[in-house]
Amino acid sequence: YIKNGKENKALNGKPLESITFIQCAGSRNEKHLPYCSSICCSVSLKQALYIREKFPDALIYIIYKDIRTPAQHELFYKRVQEEDNIFLTKGDVVNVNSNGNGEMIIDIDDTLLGEKIQIKSDVVVLATGMVPTTLAGEIETKEKTEEQEESDKKEETLDGKKEAESAEVGAKILNLAYRQGTDLPTLKYGFPDSHYICFPYETRRTGIYAAGCVRSPMDISASKNDAYGASLKAIQLLHAAKNGVAVHPRSGDQSYPDFFMQRCTQCKRCTEECPFGSLDEDEKGTPLPNPNRCRRCGICLGACPERIISFKDYSIHSISSMIKAVDIPDEFEEKPRILAFLCENDAYPSLDIVGKYHLQYDPNIRVIPVRCLGAVNVVWIADALSMGFDGIIMIGCKHGDDYQCHYIKGSELAEQRMENVQEKLKQLVLEPERVQMFNLSLDEYNKIPTIFNDFVEEITEMGFNPYKGM
Ligand code: SF4
Ligand code: SF4
Repeated sequence: YIKNGKENKALNGKPLESITFIQCAGSRNEKHLPYCSSICCSVSLKQALYIREKFPDALIYIIYKDIRTPAQHELFYKRVQEEDNIFLTKGDVVNVNSNGNGEMIIDIDDTLLGEKIQIKSDVVVLATGMVPTTLAGEIETKEKTEEQEESDKKEETLDGKKEAESAEVGAKILNLAYRQGTDLPTLKYGFPDSHYICFPYETRRTGIYAAGCVRSPMDISASKNDAYGASLKAIQLLHAAKNGVAVHPRSGDQSYPDFFMQRCTQCKRCTEECPFGSLDEDEKGTPLPNPNRCRRCGICLGACPERIISFKDYSIHSISSMIKAVDIPDEFEEKPRILAFLCENDAYPSLDIVGKYHLQYDPNIRVIPVRCLGAVNVVWIADALSMGFDGIIMIGCKHGDDYQCHYIKGSELAEQRMENVQEKLKQLVLEPERVQMFNLSLDEYNKIPTIFNDFVEEITEMGFNPYKGM
């Protein structure tokens, strides 16, 4: 009906009489795109105004699930509502069929009127959602020729890099030389993975920041603001790199993990578990550190069964010494001794808030802050039990789809390692409940006293650690 900005009657030989916009066409639908693309409603409203201008007599229908017009667009929505000939109604489109006369018949259910309605339109417009090009799928599945396969293999060998073995596979766009894959690890909808609360721009690849629709569906003005945010992050990084210190989340940290390679068994745990792909490996599996990618999370230290990874200010030895140095006065001799490892990002600051509000908890608990629960090496648990602690509690950030772990999967890895710890406890004929892990967000600080007190009660009922004093 409109060609090169001009009215075009060629389609049906008559001016446009009716047009229907169907919102959320496939969006907010578990079977297709479960998320809202945030711009489609505003775009349809805008298009409706254009139609109104070109075809003042045409009837314009907008069928929606909910109209979502973020930010100032709400005012625009109100303005469109006041237009003649634009009809907005909530409803589920159950059928769209041609009547054979060049017109479409749209059946709509569950409307605000509480009854089914049918609309006849010359044109139906589907407001479809955004899909990131980084989505593993179409691009990824393009078949490679034998020649391409061969040349890829050659490059990998020359580089000493290995193809990603993990599930962190995205579309092949950036071609990064990382052991864990050539592109940005993505979330399940194909947007680059980042911490949705604290670090929205930071991807899992240090120095690469995502902005605009690359990281989430958004409109042009939001993308522009997003680009400012991402640029500022990049400036911060350049500044930190110049000064040889870490960026987020351990800003200013000057340490790097040191590897005592002579004792490395090439087990690959560190190279597989590093959330930021900081560690490549040679053909034998020996880690090849890339310090500039490192976020100093300590997860490699937590993973290493040989305990040969350490930082100058955070090592197996330093935390073991802290455990040994914990002093509990004699008057507590008949009470259980509990050690708590608290993640420095959410759990330890939560304890600060507990103190600020003078919330009480059992005095038999001693707390050691750690970089992340993923940075807890199981040897510290063994040390604590052999030092006579009766129970160990670990509190870290939430994991899962809406994870809050500052190092992506530290608390999740800790939970997986816990299974081994509990197996070990059983072998030592110790109750697995002597070591427990909890996930907490900062705003749940008030749960800490209950977690602590319940744990002490449970251990008291269980009795002292039988290895105490042996
Ligand atoms: S400290 Fe963290 S980011 Fe750095 S190498 Fe170890 S696991 Fe990777
Ligand atoms: S986890 Fe430790 S032993 Fe295993 S490859 Fe890494 S450094 Fe070597």
